[in-house]
Amino acid sequence: MAYEALARKWRPKTFDEIVGQGHVTRALANAITSGKIHHAYLFSGTRGVGKTTFARILARALNCEKGPTPTPCLTCPSCVEVGAGTDVQEIDGASNTGIDDIRSLRENAAYAPSRLRYKVYIIDEVHMLSKQAFNGLLKTLEEPPPHVVFILATTEPNRIPDTILSRVQRFDFRMLTDAEVRGRLSEMARAEGISAEEDALALMARYAFGSMRDGQSLFEQAAVSGGGSVTAALVEGMLGLVGVEAAIDLVSAAVLDGAGPALTRFASLLSRGADLKFLFLSLIDVLRDAAVLSFTGREALLFRHSPASLDRMRDLTARRAREEWMLLLDIAFRSERDVLATEFPHLGFELLLLRLANAQGLLPVEALDLSADLSADLSAEAARAAKAEAAGAAKAEKVEQKTSAAAPAATFTRKPSSPPAGKTSDLSADLSADLSAEAAGAAKADAGLWDAVRRILEGKKKTVLLGLLYQMRGEVREGEFVIVCDHEMMLDRLKEKDKWEPLLAALEEAAGRAVPVRLSVSTEKKSPEPDGVAPEDAGLERKALEEPVVLEILRSFEGSMLVKVQPAPPVEVPRNAAAADEDAGEPDPVATEEGE
Ligand SMILES: [Zn+2]
Repeated sequence: MAYEALARKWRPKTFDEIVGQGHVTRALANAITSGKIHHAYLFSGTRGVGKTTFARILARALNCEKGPTPTPCLTCPSCVEVGAGTDVQEIDGASNTGIDDIRSLRENAAYAPSRLRYKVYIIDEVHMLSKQAFNGLLKTLEEPPPHVVFILATTEPNRIPDTILSRVQRFDFRMLTDAEVRGRLSEMARAEGISAEEDALALMARYAFGSMRDGQSLFEQAAVSGGGSVTAALVEGMLGLVGVEAAIDLVSAAVLDGAGPALTRFASLLSRGADLKFLFLSLIDVLRDAAVLSFTGREALLFRHSPASLDRMRDLTARRAREEWMLLLDIAFRSERDVLATEFPHLGFELLLLRLANAQGLLPVEALDLSADLSADLSAEAARAAKAEAAGAAKAEKVEQKTSAAAPAATFTRKPSSPPAGKTSDLSADLSADLSAEAAGAAKADAGLWDAVRRILEGKKKTVLLGLLYQMRGEVREGEFVIVCDHEMMLDRLKEKDKWEPLLAALEEAAGRAVPVRLSVSTEKKSPEPDGVAPEDAGLERKALEEPVVLEILRSFEGSMLVKVQPAPPVEVPRNAAAADEDAGEPDPVATEEGE
């Protein structure tokens, strides 16, 4: 096909055509002009940013009959010879890693060039050389023949021995920006008479991930399959083979089904030729979209989706709380190095999937509520004691009630209610086993009736309703099922017929009988009772997230997250006394904001 050689055709032939590496271009052009040519250069940088291309141009610049010149003529016999003859050799460090290869290179280098001014050895992926091979190379670099120039290229400069580094002039190539890649692709499209949509160019540039080579190969592929017309839909389809849909599959498996299914799916994607980098990027996109959707509910803010993938996103998003999506996105984002900057990307990817799958297990720990602990109104001991006491009480009361063990709802969180009226239904068992206090954590409550209700609704795909419920807590209080939310408006929405009826039905199904429901706006804002529930306050949360201490805690404990921000109790105390209490010398901004 006519477009197949595009990337080759558009490979830069002069320094000026190289995109994004101006610092290297200027330095080398000056060196050539002033005759200060080094005998060994090291080009480092990620793949596809132009290191080898640059090396070839440098070989011509050194050898052009009209030079050495930064602007080789490209037509003289010497310029033509570069790339065809034996005086300029490209060696792949990955497949010529042994001492014998380097020995023959050294012997060869000792001879004067046959036709050109300089013999140029371009060793790509030089970090792959064996230790012995590096030693052999070092000897040559220590006493370089005057007519030889070495250009070493590497994606991993940290794996090159210091002895070598000290004898080369090093240039670091940087990753290209989306705009740089897009600009070049746009230029190619114009010159080649290929019509390319702006969206398509932007998409390809984004997925090139800083590599011009990848961007061009995507473009070439798209131009071929589109017959000279590159649309965004086409590019999406191309990437989509291992892109969004596959990433949704993968995220669903990891988050909903667990490690086993996720790893199996990953293996099957690989066997179908999925590109790890695209897959990783797509996975980040899916998690990002899920987080954005659960926080804002606005589909307009999502990346481009097909109607089908949008449906799946809605469905997937509703299956987890927004805090969980934030956590999952955070985990994936931090795994970038493990997947992209390693020799073992498969392993890194698998590790990421395990982390995602494991994140569910981490969540109940969050519910231990660091912020509450910090304000010290609930000690861990108190919580444990309350739990043990309640468990003991539950056991004592239910010796003859054989159903008790089966009811995970025994972990329901509320202070001990008045003794139930001796009913033996599941619900009264729940009540008798009520644990003291929020210390046990909201997530514990999820283990019981509340969780069962949500699971039933998930099964019925009540997405909107579930989205609402994720902003609320469900508790059993004195025979009633109380749904608590900080926002009255949301509770009002819950009362709408299409939500209220399915909710009652699910509750009845979960509890095994009709349960009276009460809606409650949490009002504990101004009354920090020891067992009071801290109100969730977006302003406080934002403030807390600016706190170095909070950030440090979040950073130090993998998977930790801010669940609840609660103002410190001594708000009526004069500011300096409060500050002294904190023994930090500075008033705690989280507390003082609420005090105003
Ligand atoms: Zn020339």
